[in-house]
Amino acid sequence: MSAPETLITVPRRWWEAFSDLSSDAIFLIEPTAETVASWNAAAQRLWGYAPEEVVGEPVQRLVPPDRLAEIAQILESAQRGEPVPAFETVRVAKDGTPVDISLATTPLMDDSGRPVAIIAIARDLSEAKATEKRLAEALRVRQEFEGRLVDLNRQLRQRIQDLETLLEVIPVGIGIAYDRDCSDIRLNPALAAMLGLPSDANASKSGPQASQLPFRIMQEGEEVSAATLPMQRAAKLGEQISDVELDVLSEDGTADHVLAFAAPLLDEDGAPRGSVGVFVDVTEKRRTEEVLRAANAVKDEFLAIVSHELRTPLTVVVGLSRVLARSAGSLDPETFQNTVEQLRNESELLGSVIENMLVLARLDYQEAVREPLRLLPVVERTLSLHRLRLPGRTIELEATPVGITEANGQWIEQVLGNLVTNAHKYSPPGTTITVTVAEDGPNAAVTVADRGEGLDEGEIEHIFEPFYRSSRKSTASRPGLGVGLTVCRRLVELQGGHITARSRAGGGSEFTFTLPLVEEAPE
Ligand code: ADP
Repeated sequence: MSAPETLITVPRRWWEAFSDLSSDAIFLIEPTAETVASWNAAAQRLWGYAPEEVVGEPVQRLVPPDRLAEIAQILESAQRGEPVPAFETVRVAKDGTPVDISLATTPLMDDSGRPVAIIAIARDLSEAKATEKRLAEALRVRQEFEGRLVDLNRQLRQRIQDLETLLEVIPVGIGIAYDRDCSDIRLNPALAAMLGLPSDANASKSGPQASQLPFRIMQEGEEVSAATLPMQRAAKLGEQISDVELDVLSEDGTADHVLAFAAPLLDEDGAPRGSVGVFVDVTEKRRTEEVLRAANAVKDEFLAIVSHELRTPLTVVVGLSRVLARSAGSLDPETFQNTVEQLRNESELLGSVIENMLVLARLDYQEAVREPLRLLPVVERTLSLHRLRLPGRTIELEATPVGITEANGQWIEQVLGNLVTNAHKYSPPGTTITVTVAEDGPNAAVTVADRGEGLDEGEIEHIFEPFYRSSRKSTASRPGLGVGLTVCRRLVELQGGHITARSRAGGGSEFTFTLPLVEEAPE
């Protein structure tokens, strides 16, 4: 360690001891030769040069080429006796690496005002710079994190909004409870509607307002206790509950059949902290299933009856044909005639059953086919056929002249045939069936009256319904599909008329159907 000889006023040892104490690099510059004149331990640490390598060397060695102007400036300031206050700059270490430093210089002047030395103090800034860099990086990471957090928050809010919209519109009841006792159950609009509650109500049966709730929850006719309801169970046991069938009984007496599911809400440790319940109203589905079941039962019954109704006359037809085939030659003419007539009657009965079934099958989409028609000849022809079919039965016709009707002859035959067949079926042998044809205002009216058991007041409104048969024992013992009157009503209405039934004074029933009259005569 050495200092310019001119620094005689500064004791060299003191200087050396003092400068070595400092953690900052302290060195002297000889301003005239522009060389390094003294070099402390911290300078050695900072630059990597030992004093003997650098003392006496040009000070420019310590500076990267692009910073040489700074040296010039320090020397100039020193000539003027001015210090250079601390500024940040870069120096080159012995191994060529750049070193961030803070540098301050001040000249030492002799009595004549000339600089004899320049004291330079350099502080290593690499640590501070690294810290600064770390801080900047930490700041950047934090900003990025905050940005992501804002983004995440926005996405989360969006998701919550989507979920809320879903809860609003989904036609499935949803309840949420945020405590293990489910003492407060919040509902979506569908569940509120199902339970007859305002949407901000607490629907919990285990909550403080349970007794005021306007509904009861039943299972197989028994009220379900609050603790065993699906949401309460899911929250208590931490288990998923599925497919629980419940009936929600409202105060007004209506009942909804509901399929319930519940799942626990869990906290971070997996312990239940509430539950979510999903309630699907299956009342309509259940009703449809019941209707389908009933329809199926009706179908089975119908098939059984149809096969019976068809088989009975068919058996007779087959039997009679065999008799004819086997012994046609040996039969006397009267028996032969009777057998053939019986054969025809049974075949017609078969035809009529089939015809009724066909009309029934087409009931909803049968189109009206009508033409101007004289009613009386059609009625007479139908009655003659039935007189043949029903020997021993008196069928009277009381007719007054009627105008032309707009109708379908085949359908009239079918309607009248069904009514006469019923009159025969439901009245004792030997009694008379009376058919009346007359005008009734703008209509022609045909009435079929018998002296049978008549109709009960309560059944009149049902007898025209498909498959309706009276529950009276006497009806059950007679063959029938319960479709004859349904077919009559449909065919009459297709022709613009009406059909009515009533019990007759003096016993028996009376069926009347009308057909509109036309003013013009047919061509
Ligand atoms: P079906 O005669 O095959 O049972 P219908 O549709 O013709 O079916 O008649 C329906 C029901 O109306 C019958 O089961 C019977 O109870 C009642 N009914 C029909 N006609 C008469 C009648 N002339 N007298 C009494 N009851 C009748």
